[in-house]
Amino acid sequence: MDLTFSTAAEEMRAELRSWLADNVPAAFTTGDAVEFASLDEEFSFLRDWQAKLARDRWVGVHWPEAYGGRGAGAEASYIFQEEMARARAPEVINRIGVNLVGPSLMKHGTGAQKDRYLARILTCEDVWCQLFSEPGAGSDLTALRTVAVRDGDVYRVTGQKVWTSWAQYADFGILIARTDPGSAKARGISYVIVDMHAPGVEVRPLRQMTGSSEFNEVFLDDVRVPVANLVGEEGRGWEIAQTTLAHERGTSPRQLVIHRMLLEDLVRVARERERAGESDLRQSVAAAAIEVEIAKLNNWRTLTRLVRGEPLGPESSFIKLYWSEMSQRMHDTVMRALGPRAALRGSDAPTRGRLAESWLYYRAASIFAGTSEVQRNIIAQRVLGLPR
Ligand SMILES: Cc1cc2nc3c(=O)[nH]c(=O)nc-3n(C[C@H](O)[C@H](O)[C@H](O)COP(=O)(O)OP(=O)(O)OC[C@H]3O[C@@H](n4cnc5c(N)ncnc54)[C@H](O)[C@@H]3O)c2cc1C
Repeated sequence: MDLTFSTAAEEMRAELRSWLADNVPAAFTTGDAVEFASLDEEFSFLRDWQAKLARDRWVGVHWPEAYGGRGAGAEASYIFQEEMARARAPEVINRIGVNLVGPSLMKHGTGAQKDRYLARILTCEDVWCQLFSEPGAGSDLTALRTVAVRDGDVYRVTGQKVWTSWAQYADFGILIARTDPGSAKARGISYVIVDMHAPGVEVRPLRQMTGSSEFNEVFLDDVRVPVANLVGEEGRGWEIAQTTLAHERGTSPRQLVIHRMLLEDLVRVARERERAGESDLRQSVAAAAIEVEIAKLNNWRTLTRLVRGEPLGPESSFIKLYWSEMSQRMHDTVMRALGPRAALRGSDAPTRGRLAESWLYYRAASIFAGTSEVQRNIIAQRVLGLPR
């Protein structure tokens, strides 16, 4: 494991830190929840924020310069995430585009697709969503039932997707569907780009327990998708989906820094409770501090592999499993430490309800990007070599 960052990467860190100090809106730096009148207003704010970052080439720092990136390596991308979280900067909202669609199109897309779509992902001119999961096809995605039937120079796509994050704001989606009706499992699946404004696309938001509606059901009723929107070869979409899914895990510097900040919150709350003679949280705080340190070392080991140009492999499952479950343990400890006021929301609540909302949101961490059970299966079979 290499424990040092290159000089170039550290220079970029200093430049970015100073940019963020000048540009992150003050309301975000207090540690309290920032309230928006509606999800529409929040999304619009985040879209403008990403455009501002992109103007100074801070989105996709690891992307080629031709598409608006800085041509920097994995290290730079790691540092970008670290600094954004450290500054408590608002998130890059088009992250499905930046983290999943971009790398997938760079590897498998045609020249025309790259020219048409890539640069506009970074600037947030086009927002993207991921149309993979279906009712009945989540962990076992190959059970999908959405079909794409070739009809001249279009595919006619019919089916239903679910849990599609940000679909209500998306301009395009990456979709997997069965193009060969006689096929089963991973064969006969194709990967296409869908215009979310096309006739036949209907998006219905789903309300979550946080009160927000970030994800949606998407119904596709005979949607015409030009054959030019096929990514890779017809019937070979599963391989491309694997590229997309591999980029969904990988290292998690943002999560790492978020949890370091959560640890700070925990220490502060635990001190207040102890001073009031209300609670002894010393062991839980120590356990949380050790877990955050372990997560950091795991991230660094994986980052070292990426910087050396080695493939990620199944160890990304370990990182995903570790941070998601660590997160839930830490949030539970924070809520215990906050005591009876923990579940409050609004202006009288601790952190104006930020921690309560975060606690609710992170219940999803052991589900999205592959559930904990699925990560354990991967580790058992591909890392430990246990029988199926
Ligand atoms: C916040 C959030 C955002 C999401 N955003 C998107 C998105 O933008 N686009 C998208 O396509 N999807 C998205 N998803 C969907 C996500 O990928 C799926 O929820 C996930 O893959 C699990 O699928 P499922 O919900 O159908 O559960 P299922 O696959 O039905 O699993 C149900 C339970 O069975 C367990 N299980 C399943 N198979 C096995 C097995 N082989 N061995 C042991 N246990 C097993 C699971 O671990 C789970 O506990 C999102 C999910 C969340 C929570």
